[in-house]
This record gives sequence, structure tokens and C-alpha cells, in this order.
Amino acid sequence: MLKTRLLVFSALCLSLSLLACKDDPPDEGNPPPSEPPISGDAISTSQGDVIIHPINHATFVMHWADKMIYVDPVGGAAPFEGLPAPNVIFVTDIHSDHLSADTLTALVRVDTVIVAPQAVRDQLPANLQGVTQVLANGGTLTVAGIGVEAIPMYNITTDRLQYHTKGRGNGYVLTLGGKRIYIAGDTEDIPEMRQLRDIEVAFIPMNLPYTMTVQQAASAVREFKPKIVYPYHSRGSDLDEFTRLVGTDVGVEVRIRNWY
Ligand code: ZN
Repeated sequence: MLKTRLLVFSALCLSLSLLACKDDPPDEGNPPPSEPPISGDAISTSQGDVIIHPINHATFVMHWADKMIYVDPVGGAAPFEGLPAPNVIFVTDIHSDHLSADTLTALVRVDTVIVAPQAVRDQLPANLQGVTQVLANGGTLTVAGIGVEAIPMYNITTDRLQYHTKGRGNGYVLTLGGKRIYIAGDTEDIPEMRQLRDIEVAFIPMNLPYTMTVQQAASAVREFKPKIVYPYHSRGSDLDEFTRLVGTDVGVEVRIRNWY
């Protein structure tokens, strides 16, 4: 009798577990990590990796949380062929190595937002002005889940003052899943850069006459201590010397990538 009951009980359990199997939805809570749609360095955040993909000079793209982030896209559509369209485009300044209305026109989709300073918006056609959120130095906003703070970018050396006047362009600190990424734009080693803290990744320019020397850049980096620094906008600069000057004692990793 006990044996029969056990058998019935076992059969019931088995059929229930089979039913449960059949009705269980696929495990959507933990999908296998999908391949990012772009290649590049991966930086972990609380919402998955941000992938960093240099294009050229001051232009790069990032992928994070199913979003494509473009920075200073220029050169027409060709450099971005095969990349997913931008959800957000950050433009730092009006010079042609940072702003190209034709390139923006080619890249912008219905859901794309441009973030730019007023001087950049002023140079855009009306349809692009309509999708541009203006940020002044010090301004903040959130777009596509990205926290954005506009940081000043300007020259401070007497014979370079004419290139970037304070207030016209924006550097940006983006917060992606808790990690702060600093895009310096065209600037020298201004106090606003040196005062930054808690930066995971920094994109720092170095070239003359428009931005700064590798000595200035390394000195600033040693002061604000990003975990990782990418020299960019660095045509003609001695990046080995920059790396040597940053050194290894303050815990900053210099990453030289193929920007040219
Ligand atoms: Zn530039």
C-alpha cells in the first residue's frame, strides 16, 4: 500500500515537474551577454560595459546600455559605416575637426539627440537645431540615461588665447552606470580640469598650437588622476614622452590607441 502511494506520489511529482518545465518561460532574467555591436576597449559599469571605439583625431563612438554615443562626428557618413546609428551626439566646439553640419545631417535619425553649446547650435540648419539640447559651461542634463555635465574648455597661454575662448565650447563629464567619463575637448590644463575627481576614463588633447603640450597634459593628469587616460586630438605629439611624464606612481593608466 505504502509502495503504491509512493509510486502515485512520484508519478504526480514527475508530471508536475514536466508541466512546470513546459510552462516555464525562457530565463529572461539573465539573458546571455550579447556581443557589443562595436569593437573596442570595454570599461565595466553598473549597467554593463561601455565600449570605446576611436574613429579619428577628436572623433569617437561609445556603446553603452543599448545606446550609441557619438562624440564630435566629422568626415561625412563614411567613417561611421557599419556602426549603429547614434542615440546621442555630443559636440564640443565649432571648429571643423569637431563640428560638421553635413556629417550630423547624414547621421541623425528620428530619435537622435544632439547635445552642444549655443555657438554650435547657431551653426546648424533648422532641422538639427530642433533636436539639439543646448548646455552652457557648468550646465547639467540627463539624456538617454546618461548624466551630462558641461565642463569649460579654453586656452590659457597668451599666444593661444584666440583659439578657444572660455565659454564657447564644452568639455563633458558623462556618467554611465556610475562611471564618470571626461571628454576634455580642445583645452589646456585649466583649473576646472585639474579639480576633477573620481574620473574613470579621460580623453585629453595635446597638440600645438590649438591645445597644450604633453608636459601640460601630463601635469594635469597627474593632478586629477583619472584611472585611464586616452590621449586624443594629439596629432604630431610625442605620446611616449606623455606616457613617461604621467609615470606609474599615481595610478593612471595611459592608453595609446590608433586615432590616426
Ligand atoms: Zn580641435
